Amino acid sequence: MAHNEITHDVIIVGAGLAGTWAAMVAAREGVSDIGVLSKIHPLRSHSGAAQGGIAASLSNTRPVAGTGPRGPLEEVPPGAEASDSWELHMFDTIKGSDWLGDQDAIEVMVKDATEIVYEYEHMGCVFSRTDDGRINQRRFGGHSAPRACFAADWTGHVLLHTVHEQALRYDVKFYSEWYCMDLIMEEGICRGVVAMDVLTGELYTMRAKAVVFGTGGYGRAFAITSNAFANTGDGVAIAYNAGVPLMDMEFVQFHPTGLYRHGILMSEACRGEGGYLLNSQGDRFMNTYAPEKMELAPRDLVSRSEQTEINEGRGVMGDGQGIYLDLRHLGRDKILERLPQVREIAINFVGVDPIDAPVPIQPTAHYSMGGIPTTLDGQVLADADGALVEGFFAAGECACVSVHGANRLGTNSLLDASVFGRRTGYAVVDFIRNGAQLHPVSGDPAAENRARINDLLSRDGDENVEHIAQELKWTMTNNCGVFRDGERLQLALEEIKDLQKRFRHARTMDKGSRFNTDLLTTIEVDHLLQFSEVMVAGAIARTESRGAHSRTDFVKRDDENWLKHTMAHKPMVYEDEDAGPRLSYKGVDIDWEKYPPQERTY
Ligand SMILES: Cc1cc2nc3c(=O)[nH]c(=O)nc-3n(C[C@H](O)[C@H](O)[C@H](O)COP(=O)(O)OP(=O)(O)OC[C@H]3O[C@@H](n4cnc5c(N)ncnc54)[C@H](O)[C@@H]3O)c2cc1C
Repeated sequence: MAHNEITHDVIIVGAGLAGTWAAMVAAREGVSDIGVLSKIHPLRSHSGAAQGGIAASLSNTRPVAGTGPRGPLEEVPPGAEASDSWELHMFDTIKGSDWLGDQDAIEVMVKDATEIVYEYEHMGCVFSRTDDGRINQRRFGGHSAPRACFAADWTGHVLLHTVHEQALRYDVKFYSEWYCMDLIMEEGICRGVVAMDVLTGELYTMRAKAVVFGTGGYGRAFAITSNAFANTGDGVAIAYNAGVPLMDMEFVQFHPTGLYRHGILMSEACRGEGGYLLNSQGDRFMNTYAPEKMELAPRDLVSRSEQTEINEGRGVMGDGQGIYLDLRHLGRDKILERLPQVREIAINFVGVDPIDAPVPIQPTAHYSMGGIPTTLDGQVLADADGALVEGFFAAGECACVSVHGANRLGTNSLLDASVFGRRTGYAVVDFIRNGAQLHPVSGDPAAENRARINDLLSRDGDENVEHIAQELKWTMTNNCGVFRDGERLQLALEEIKDLQKRFRHARTMDKGSRFNTDLLTTIEVDHLLQFSEVMVAGAIARTESRGAHSRTDFVKRDDENWLKHTMAHKPMVYEDEDAGPRLSYKGVDIDWEKYPPQERTY
């Protein structure tokens, strides 16, 4: 074995909820040789930043009778009839997805939801409680019952710590601060990855019988985003470059309440607990757009409403680009008990204490509905006809199974990452038990990636990579944002093409090998440039408005032509260098009797 070769039965890239669940379950069920790579410390994965909650139809709380859809909640007394059900959760999710979610996958997710929340509880997760000791539940947008199980506004933090602890208990090996650069695919079979130990800069060919990607979302392609610095969509770009298609990449969720100018998240729990949105005239403008659900309409609708208020001159702050999130009427005690983190963030970043004053916010790029297409067991699809990529699995935000369709409901993604991470863990166990092979690898993938790095470091143009990244992010925010149209999308595409060309000469400042974060940024920007083109190409082709993809030149949903998933393949090498992604389409799984497409109003 070459000195730079490492082998495992299973290699998992990503230590967020999806990757850690897959690793923990596989280890618990008897696969002993598992390596988990994370480019940052595992517990700094973005899952840990989730604030609001995880959805499950437990029926632990319900609205007080006669107080309306936004009135107070009470505990459901023991023995009383359940106020929520998986069927209701399923319908809300399908409607939220604007009928683009695959209904077989949604059914699996909502049915598994209660079990997975209890599994978290049995592992010792410190959920917030009702007075009689059950898991407390609050409201979230687009959900017709209080369904969000939470731990104050630290939900992701406690979930991730709980599963991580269990993974350590089952001796999963974590490679902390190891950066995956490449997927090793030969003859359509996934044989491992190439990764860098960031501390030393050394590259390794890591072979495995099965590779799982749980690499998270791609919100960092936007200038205003709630996402962590690590959310650069490496996994989707690496898979795309290895010939794997990407699905529904044009669907990006813009969360209504990012801190003004920063994009940092003010959890939807703020509105779940009763917060208001106000325009410059002090109006609760959601009354115009969603009179029934008001601030708790789904995110795509609320973000569009805010953007409309801003565009029509009713925004706040100096440039009129903000909206107010008002929590004052909740009172000091509730804010301190339920939203302590949100309060601290507002004080630290915009100097506003929500107890005393409204917080300026704006829509922020938040969640990646698209990603690597998979089966219900996390197996990656090779094409729109359902062929599989042997040995390659994906789960969580980097994957597209697709439970969120064109718009995700809040609290459904911690659920998605947990449920499908766990299912992928079981699928990997079966795959290994059924005699999966450690396939040979021809050539020296680590050396090939070393050559790529040397090439990147040798570029000495006048322009810095960071500069290119900033231009890309602003064009994505301005031209591929809450509202889109053909002209602006075309502009974005041309700019991306231009930036891709300029990137070929752009300079990385640090030329060293040890802990070269500048080099990692360069590789990440390469990834952003690649998949942003896929997002924009998909958005240009999709001449309709559905969920988060809202076009001012095609304002209606068009089921006749567009009730289908986009699949984007990287063009073959012999095609024109400038050729964009090859787009094809895949049908949506729909139960036409139970859940046929309907008009989506709130
Ligand atoms: C601020 C915020 C709040 C949120 N709140 C909620 C909420 O309340 N409820 C809800 O349901 N959802 C929420 N979400 C969404 C939810 O948190 C995510 O969708 C989910 O946690 C994603 O989990 P994951 O395991 O797929 O990825 P992540 O947790 O993002 O983990 C990705 C992992 O991949 C690793 N990685 C990536 N690239 C590489 C590479 N090249 N090499 C090595 N490792 C790599 C990273 O190190 C990391 O370990 C929130 C998201 C944000 C940004």
